[in-house]
Amino acid sequence: MEHSHSNFDVIILGGGGAGMMCGMQAGQRGRKVLIMDHAKKIGGKILISGGGRCNFTNIGASAQNYVSENSHFCKSAFSRYTPEDFIALIKKHRIPFHEKKLGQLFCDRTAQDIVKLLKSECDDAGVQFLLDCKIDSISKIESDRPGFEIKSAKGTFTCQSLVVATGGLSIPKIGATGLGYQIAKQFKLTCVATAPALDGFTLPPQGPHAWSDLSGLAVDCTVTCKSSITFRENILFTHAGLSGPAALQASLHWHPGESIWVDFLPGRSSFAWLSHQKRAGSRTLARNLLSEAIPSRLAQKLCELALPGDDPLVRISDRDLEAFCEKLHHWEIRPAGTVGYSKAEVTRGGVSTDELSSKTMEAKKVPGLYFIGEVVDVTGWLGGYNFQWAWASGWAAGQVI
Ligand SMILES: Cc1cc2nc3c(=O)[nH]c(=O)nc-3n(C[C@H](O)[C@H](O)[C@H](O)COP(=O)(O)OP(=O)(O)OC[C@H]3O[C@@H](n4cnc5c(N)ncnc54)[C@H](O)[C@@H]3O)c2cc1C
Repeated sequence: MEHSHSNFDVIILGGGGAGMMCGMQAGQRGRKVLIMDHAKKIGGKILISGGGRCNFTNIGASAQNYVSENSHFCKSAFSRYTPEDFIALIKKHRIPFHEKKLGQLFCDRTAQDIVKLLKSECDDAGVQFLLDCKIDSISKIESDRPGFEIKSAKGTFTCQSLVVATGGLSIPKIGATGLGYQIAKQFKLTCVATAPALDGFTLPPQGPHAWSDLSGLAVDCTVTCKSSITFRENILFTHAGLSGPAALQASLHWHPGESIWVDFLPGRSSFAWLSHQKRAGSRTLARNLLSEAIPSRLAQKLCELALPGDDPLVRISDRDLEAFCEKLHHWEIRPAGTVGYSKAEVTRGGVSTDELSSKTMEAKKVPGLYFIGEVVDVTGWLGGYNFQWAWASGWAAGQVI
């Protein structure tokens, strides 16, 4: 693209959800905005999100659905840009959508609808885009007023406000890099350690925590981590570990060395059920009885691991039965790790919220420099929460830059 001027009021690094929301807000306020991205197309992550249908918000989103060293930081932005605000934008563009479950809103058609919405709002607000453009360096212009110089493969640009919206490290093959964290470091801003999250677990290949023989099996259960954070949804056993929504959610909260706890019969007392069967004289093998409540491959595996033998129920002592049932509801699994950035939906950690104004996302120590979206240490659960943070933080910065 041609640029008549290389000087802008606002330059936004990153043409993802946060960057475009911020750009359109600033453009609507009459600011001259340039969005720069090294990718060839904008909104790459939006396009692959939500299985191609983009789970663009969650109607129940609130601070408790986010992990951050400061759980209060996101409240200001969320109170000023709500899921209803984004839904109003969706309706304005006549994009058909539906609630899938648990407040999660998805496009009926494809995620392309969301990218088109953001692009058309940006175009209407006069926002310019410079894509396929490698960023070489960023520096502060020494003057009384804030100002930055961005050197890139397509020229040198200056701006008063620089917004970093370069996202996290997940899915490097579609263009994720650590540029945002490097910029933070360059300006001596603290970052909270990053880790892949919403990626599920890898399990040891052998031993009591190996479950690869159940590969392909999905079960409704609850997964608890940190002894108090519980998710009830499916887990999916894979050849290498655990996936499925409940495992993805748990991986957001998990740290190396910790265990997770699975209840394979949530909401039900297995001891009341099985001891009643025993008292009635059931001669059925425990694993066959258990198969009435959970998939038989899982029932067999659990019995193998936690009962002394393959016996009919009547032959199992009350003590063994009680211990077994206790385990069914509180099964400890010790992951080897999480799957990693190649599959992670988000990056946990990032630019410390201590460094930023919760109202504007501006770096307290560096006037004119802003961080929005996933690059910030605010990470949402699975279910549309991460986009809501991208929209709300982008909107907040967009009002002031
Ligand atoms: C497979 C998958 C599915 C997901 N599904 C959902 C979902 O359904 N709902 C939900 O809420 N969240 C979902 N997420 C998470 C969500 O996509 C992100 O949290 C959100 O897109 C973050 O927005 P962002 O604008 O901060 O960053 P991004 O969307 O990652 O945008 C960052 C932009 O910066 C650019 N960039 C990066 N490095 C550089 C560099 N060095 N130079 C120039 N440009 C650079 C990138 O090319 C990119 O365009 C999903 C994520 C993945 C990976």
